[in-house]
Amino acid sequence: MAPHRPGLLVHNAAEIATLAGGVRRGSAQSDVGLLASGETGGTGPHDPALAAYEGRIVAVGRLSHVEAQLTEMGIAESSVVRLDALGGTVTPGLIDPHTHLLFSGTRHAEVEMRQRGHGYLEILAAGGGILQTVRMTRAASDDELLDHGRRWLREMLSHGVTTIETKSGYGLDTSSELRLLELAGRLGAEGPVEIVPTFLGAHAVAPEYRDTPDAAGAYLQSVIDEQLPAVIDQGIAKSCDVFCERGVFGVSLARRLLSAARDRGLDVRLHADQIQPSGGAELAADIGALSADHLGRVTAEGIHALSRAADEGHPVVATLLPIASFYLAEEHDAPARSLIDAGIPVALGTDFNPGTSPAPNAQLAMAFAVHRLRMSAAESLAAMTINAAAALGIAASHGSLEVGKHADLAIWSVDSHALLPYWLGSDLVRTVVKRGHVAYSAEAMIR
Ligand SMILES: [Zn+2]
Repeated sequence: MAPHRPGLLVHNAAEIATLAGGVRRGSAQSDVGLLASGETGGTGPHDPALAAYEGRIVAVGRLSHVEAQLTEMGIAESSVVRLDALGGTVTPGLIDPHTHLLFSGTRHAEVEMRQRGHGYLEILAAGGGILQTVRMTRAASDDELLDHGRRWLREMLSHGVTTIETKSGYGLDTSSELRLLELAGRLGAEGPVEIVPTFLGAHAVAPEYRDTPDAAGAYLQSVIDEQLPAVIDQGIAKSCDVFCERGVFGVSLARRLLSAARDRGLDVRLHADQIQPSGGAELAADIGALSADHLGRVTAEGIHALSRAADEGHPVVATLLPIASFYLAEEHDAPARSLIDAGIPVALGTDFNPGTSPAPNAQLAMAFAVHRLRMSAAESLAAMTINAAAALGIAASHGSLEVGKHADLAIWSVDSHALLPYWLGSDLVRTVVKRGHVAYSAEAMIR
């Protein structure tokens, strides 16, 4: 085995999109903090490079500056891995701020049900949809769920992803929800993909409550009284989420849960206005959520509320999930242009889950954002890096290539970030680095 070398020097990049400078909104969403190579094509002293030491970035800039910085720090060449970007593009590792990683089974039969005219909420009301996944997930062993998680995390990594958020929500009772959070915590500790766990006990009304009067209210109260305290005691979840949708958990129930979670020290986020306009965006702004997710049917009032929150200095990130609206053949995609024009920071996620987005590929989410939501390539990159980090409350340490931040990055086999969503369906990742170490390589290229 090669000796452990704590240093990393990435060189010969056509460009480095640093995304330096914090969360992006409005016209700044298209600023990727670009360092471009000169006439030498990436190999000269003035071409962009990056160095990391013990997992943190120590220098970004011209190669001559980066090498001088390593020398000044007394870091010997023998302790530095030199990673040749082969004239490719370097970006921060992608961050997927909305996934439902841990589940059992597939729901491919629902595709044909929907094609025959049965809606998503109708299938759920009939005991299918999420509830089918709940039955199968409860019945799966820990090892089955861990194997499933590892399989898809490997795939996410190979698409350039270094950090994901993932939710519980296929347990819907205290012990099952705790188990999903515990398994998410274990997978994150295994690495290399880092996991930010979210509690989503209010994903659907649990089957045990479906025949009680006011089932949604009764189940939600049990989430507050029983699940939430246990989740707090367990200490794994960083935030609390709720499926806020008319006919599932309306705004007043969602507000009750999120207020209780916030009072107990969790960040809050919500599935908002996905299928029908439900007032979720307004609630997100009012309650100070980290993110409002989906927003396919957000209203003008909802956009106004999010815009005001951003202007007042406590932005709610609009996390858009265009693969899900495509998969459900929704007539309404999230109004990305209106959100960006209103000064709201926009992030992108895959929404990886068995029912509405069986897609682990973050590059696909960026491509759909460009080709369906009319975002630019640059906006989609900011959305999947620094703004996704902001949606998870980790933008101080993740999401951009700046000195002091985690050395999480992806090297792409194209010479411009503008080509990432262009080669539709092609996997453009060459190398993925997590905390300063090569975690995935499409080609052997370390020298
Ligand atoms: Zn979701």
